[in-house]
Amino acid sequence: MKTDIQIAQEATLKPISEIAKSLGLQKEDWEPYGNTKAKLSDQLVDRLSDRQDGKIVLVTSINPTPAGEGKSTVTVGLGQALNKIGKKAVIALREPSLGPVMGLKGGAAGGGYSQVLPMEDINLHFTGDIHAITTANNALSAIIDNHIHRGNKLQIDPRKIEWKRVLDMNDRALREIVIGLGGPSQGIPREDGFNITVASEIMAILCLANSLSDLKERISQIVIGYTYNEEPVTVKDLKVEGALTLLLKDAFKPNLVQTTENTPAIIHGGPFANIAHGCNSIMATKTAAKLGDYVITEAGFGADLGAEKFLNIKARAAKFDPDAVIIVATIRALKMHGGVEKSGLTKENVHALKKGMENLEKHIETIEKFGLPYVVSINKFPTDTIDEINYIEKWCEERKVDVALTDVWAKGGEGGIELAEKIVHKIETNQHKFEHLYPLDMSLEKKIRKIAQVVYGASNIELSNKAKKQLAYFEEQGWGQLPICMAKTQYSLSDDPTLLGKPEGFVITIRELRPSIGAGFIVVLTGEMLTMPGLPKKPAAFKMDVTNDGKVVGLF
Ligand code: ADP
Repeated sequence: MKTDIQIAQEATLKPISEIAKSLGLQKEDWEPYGNTKAKLSDQLVDRLSDRQDGKIVLVTSINPTPAGEGKSTVTVGLGQALNKIGKKAVIALREPSLGPVMGLKGGAAGGGYSQVLPMEDINLHFTGDIHAITTANNALSAIIDNHIHRGNKLQIDPRKIEWKRVLDMNDRALREIVIGLGGPSQGIPREDGFNITVASEIMAILCLANSLSDLKERISQIVIGYTYNEEPVTVKDLKVEGALTLLLKDAFKPNLVQTTENTPAIIHGGPFANIAHGCNSIMATKTAAKLGDYVITEAGFGADLGAEKFLNIKARAAKFDPDAVIIVATIRALKMHGGVEKSGLTKENVHALKKGMENLEKHIETIEKFGLPYVVSINKFPTDTIDEINYIEKWCEERKVDVALTDVWAKGGEGGIELAEKIVHKIETNQHKFEHLYPLDMSLEKKIRKIAQVVYGASNIELSNKAKKQLAYFEEQGWGQLPICMAKTQYSLSDDPTLLGKPEGFVITIRELRPSIGAGFIVVLTGEMLTMPGLPKKPAAFKMDVTNDGKVVGLF
């Protein structure tokens, strides 16, 4: 069996100029970054404003398990399959973060014969967007500390600065630090800490802004902390929204690449899917919608987190309605939801599969609540047995759920033709109407309860004293009209990662709230959320190398 990197290195890439040409792009619409990557103009959506938008297909999944779901793989494979059946598809994906690449997860560029390329670049420094976000974030930190050092005119309370420094690496040693040590000329000592760059509010903002002016406006609204009088302090107060936007002007332009089968793909932005919304940028999705008849895009984690936020946060900020959803599941993961340990997944177990189907059923219900048509994609693994596949197909048939066995990992687009045909049919015959789960004028508490009850299946929510106080303060500040960004474990529908399948009768505990006013949402923390991950015992980095002639080795 070939590894992802072997398949990637054997693929024949077209010059990016050919991909740009196939999309009908003009000279001013793009600029090459080497031979196989390009930056697209952030004016493209405006220039093509007369052109009808393509259909937006969101790829989501059941609750992820360590067994792997393959959402990115299916996203890429479906884009390729649509092109095979004569539709013009453009893929829109998130950019991988170096922290997880060096740590545990590995790459985020799809897998097998459904990858975006050049995966070595995409998984490493790519076009430097994440570096630009790191710099913009840290420029703001430096400005804050300089402001305090120079007399603190704004009366910022150094103990209440929420803005942290960032680094695109998993580095637990930097979670809590003390800065400004060494005497009066080194600044004012205070506690600080590092987040991973993808957890920066600037990443979320870059992904939710509709134009460069919107980017600047959102940056100006970031709340960096509070004064001694408990008043919020914003970037606007510090007068650096212009400088920060300037640092992001190229990072704001979506990146064009291609897949193993030369299907165009736009990769741009990659916010965390817990304390942020976990979707690629609005600029990327909108640009893809102008360039293709179908956009295939993905949201992080399962439908309880990623899809809920795509539909309530991103679609709202972008002012578009998605057209259909793909719910990815694997037989392995469903068996885990049915109680099987990871080590036992290669053995046939229809009984566990039957039990695990309740997890898929819950996510189907959620997507139906939004009024969206969907197809279930069973991402095929070599260990799946005929009886297991037959069981799922029968289960779906009995419930009139459209399902497609998808083999895009092993076969590329060819393995996704059934899925492509079914989703096109669903979109063309759709009678439903997309609806957000809650109106924005609902109180923050009611919005949180609605998500917990409808999407997670919780009986209720319980607020800590801190959360209660924050809710009152946030409403008072006029932040009550914002959508909610839940930070919950991805492994369970509940806030307990060990409760797999479809837990019932549980209460979601709301520990704390955080304002992401620039991004335009309120983060609701349900448990301990690490915003700076650590490295595992055996980091993926141990396997990586580069040969003397520059060939990348061990990148999955
Ligand atoms: P997700 O987007 O859900 O995190 P990815 O698409 O990134 O998942 O896939 C995770 C890993 O699983 C990748 O290394 C990929 O090559 C592998 N993978 C995905 N689908 C399959 C499959 N059908 N068979 C074998 N490996 C797969």
